[in-house]
Amino acid sequence: MEQVVIIGTGCAGLTAAIYTARANLSPLVLTGAMPGGLLTTTSTVENFPGFPEGIDGFQLMQNLQKQAERFGARVQFGHLDSVDFSGHPLKLVVDGETIISKTVIVATGSKPRALGLPSEEALEKHGVTYCATCDGALPQFRNQPLVVVGGGDSALEEATYLTRFASEVHLIHRRDSFRASVIMQERALKNPKIKPVWNSVVTEVLGVAEKKVSGVRLKNIETGMTSTLSCAGVFVAIGHVPNTAVFNGQLETDAGGYIQLREGTRTNVRGVFAAGDVADSVYRQAITAAGTGCAAAIEAERFLGEETENY
Ligand code: NAP
Repeated sequence: MEQVVIIGTGCAGLTAAIYTARANLSPLVLTGAMPGGLLTTTSTVENFPGFPEGIDGFQLMQNLQKQAERFGARVQFGHLDSVDFSGHPLKLVVDGETIISKTVIVATGSKPRALGLPSEEALEKHGVTYCATCDGALPQFRNQPLVVVGGGDSALEEATYLTRFASEVHLIHRRDSFRASVIMQERALKNPKIKPVWNSVVTEVLGVAEKKVSGVRLKNIETGMTSTLSCAGVFVAIGHVPNTAVFNGQLETDAGGYIQLREGTRTNVRGVFAAGDVADSVYRQAITAAGTGCAAAIEAERFLGEETENY
């Protein structure tokens, strides 16, 4: 039986792995579909303390994994099929194999939110994408007009990044002011290649018949006017949804699907803790994920100490 299974290898999961490994708990750490988590798709991370020049997101995650493995964490590539938290020990089915554990730390993070348009779904990987860092440099986007949808830090960061490749970047936002931080707004708005389109939503991505994005249909929500805009790519950056589907009916979530925490990082199930973006609809930063990963590890360790007689 495992002492602790950590689900997810983003900042929260790997920090929990470092702490539980250093506590001699030999954690089993499951990567899920995206080893290293969302930070591996970012370019330079400028706000993680300790890196005055910034650090590449992929490099940061590799460093965290190495650090966890140095103390005995066992990182395993695996997809979580289901969980049974109805009794103790806790049960997890990973790629058809059942694993039992005394404690579980859920650090499954979140995934990009989609606009929900049929044409968007039809054109995913044919010009519609959710990650500028992953796809921005593709030949099909070079020296072409591109569209970014959203008004938060992600949208402005992606738009700024895409100006390296695009002829121009149209930033479509549904309101008349951005949600993003002041520094990101200043950086984006002073870039002559970035053209904000205010009070507008994308109602259709054009090019379905050709299987290649050729533009977007827009609606101005103030005036109701519709228009089209030519572009070679649509980068959707409208936030994230937590990866909690596999825990449906077992872990309590809020209206947005985020895991609901009680004291600290405890969930409604004894011995199950949650950390990082999967339980955080407010801060969602690499450093807050690392912080809660640390807290979950300490709480799991204490739980094991208190409850040893139960096993
Ligand atoms: P976010 O802050 O939640 O912003 C989402 C944006 O998308 C908002 O502007 C929102 O519009 C818009 N939106 C949401 N649903 C929409 C829909 N269905 N159609 C059209 N627009 C829609 O998400 P985020 O930008 O991904 O940022 C998440 C967190 O990560 C934030 O805390 C952010 O500070 C952080 N972050 C930080 C950095 C950095 O510091 N370098 C970089 C990226 C992200 P409204 O404004 O009208 O709600």
